[in-house]
Amino acid sequence: IASELPLRTELYSNHALTVFTDHRSPVDIAKDVACLKSAQGDDLPFMVMDAGRVMAQMAEWRRLLPRVEPFYAVKCNNDPVLMRLLADQGAGFDCASKGEIDQILEHGLAPPEKIIYANPCKTRNYIKHAARCQVNMMTFDCEDELHKVKSFHPHAQMILRIAVSDPTAQCPLNIKFGCDPIQAGPALLAAAAELSVDVVGISFHVGSGCNDPTAYAVAIGHARRLFDLGDSLGHQMTILDLGGGYPGHPTENITFPQIAGVINGALDEYFPEVGYNAVRVIGEPGRFFASAAFTLVTNVIAKTKVPASRITQNEHDATTDGFMYYLNDGVYGSFNCILYDHNRPTGRPLFERPEDTDASRQTWAALWGPTCDGLDQITSKCRLRRLNEGDWVAWDNMGAYTCAAGSEFNGFPRPNIYYFIADKEWQALREQSLSSPDGQEDEIRSVASSFSSCSGFDSAFGDEYDNFVY
Ligand code: PLP
Repeated sequence: IASELPLRTELYSNHALTVFTDHRSPVDIAKDVACLKSAQGDDLPFMVMDAGRVMAQMAEWRRLLPRVEPFYAVKCNNDPVLMRLLADQGAGFDCASKGEIDQILEHGLAPPEKIIYANPCKTRNYIKHAARCQVNMMTFDCEDELHKVKSFHPHAQMILRIAVSDPTAQCPLNIKFGCDPIQAGPALLAAAAELSVDVVGISFHVGSGCNDPTAYAVAIGHARRLFDLGDSLGHQMTILDLGGGYPGHPTENITFPQIAGVINGALDEYFPEVGYNAVRVIGEPGRFFASAAFTLVTNVIAKTKVPASRITQNEHDATTDGFMYYLNDGVYGSFNCILYDHNRPTGRPLFERPEDTDASRQTWAALWGPTCDGLDQITSKCRLRRLNEGDWVAWDNMGAYTCAAGSEFNGFPRPNIYYFIADKEWQALREQSLSSPDGQEDEIRSVASSFSSCSGFDSAFGDEYDNFVY
């Protein structure tokens, strides 16, 4: 167990949030939790969530994109603590369905005017529901949608989604949504004017996991032309929605500052703060806020020794040992990101040893999920030091498009999540949430002081709070 004991536990969004005197790394916390679990014979997978990291991401967003209001894309990860953290820091929300709208409104995370219903193809039922809830901002990219909205939500404020793509993005979206900005865009603005449906802005999504930021500049240029056209047709064009695409952590291809630099340049050129009627610029970041805050920890539940050739598909490896490790989370759970998000997570032993980086002591390994399905493979081939049954394997940056789409297929539960924060960050969060117009003090209240430091240390598990760390 790492030396520092937690200061106390707070109840936050109905979940236990463990507060430490100073900032601690997710790996430190994960080691503590793993030790406690191992001592109790519990090998279930878990996640640790660093609330401070979400706050740091928000600070970075506000520093580098000061003109852009973040509307967090709920689909990315609707974890209640993450959502509350974002709400307490003033975020709006991008919802794609009735369920997501309800999660925001029922938990008082944001008022309807801070929700954008950013799904261009909506069911009638959900449009009616949005109208009842006074969620007015919604996107469209075809004429049929205008007719539906005219019938079921006459007060809707429509935002035209145009297709501008970074073809190298991790998940291109424009094969599914967005109209052609040159041909179809003007025609749709005219059709809306004809139908007396209000269009208030332009949106786009260059692709999730954008690698080429110039796509944002191209899209903002198209938006300028369509703003001018919309205004001339009698629409009150006031909202520019930059969509998502921002990285959850720096990669070798792209960093957030690079994207922000391109966006700010294009905003200055096409939507300068002075000289035009005020334009509200919003974005729909998902992975930017969710990815790095969550670390997944899986357990090796079984291992099989095989000829390495079975893993490498190379007959020269037939006489060396390879290992197939079976972990207790897989592609039907958190690793669905391999299929749906084109992600390639890399794991490493949670408890480091010198041989971790010594190539001569590594073997070929394949990593499998726990279900009985042959598709449930996490890594087909990698080099790893020898692991044993019961060892823990850590996976960084596992907050985006992971738990949100994970299932309990074959009876394997989703990982429990342990939330932590440093005291200084907790105090800052409290101040922000109480001073924000949407801040709700009663949602943030201290748990009884009986949970203080060591007293709860041993009784971490089996407590009435399922996700109670210490
Ligand atoms: N907005 C819309 C409409 C989306 O479909 C998505 C993701 O698919 C997002 C925002 C979030 O994108 P990202 O996680 O890349 O920021």
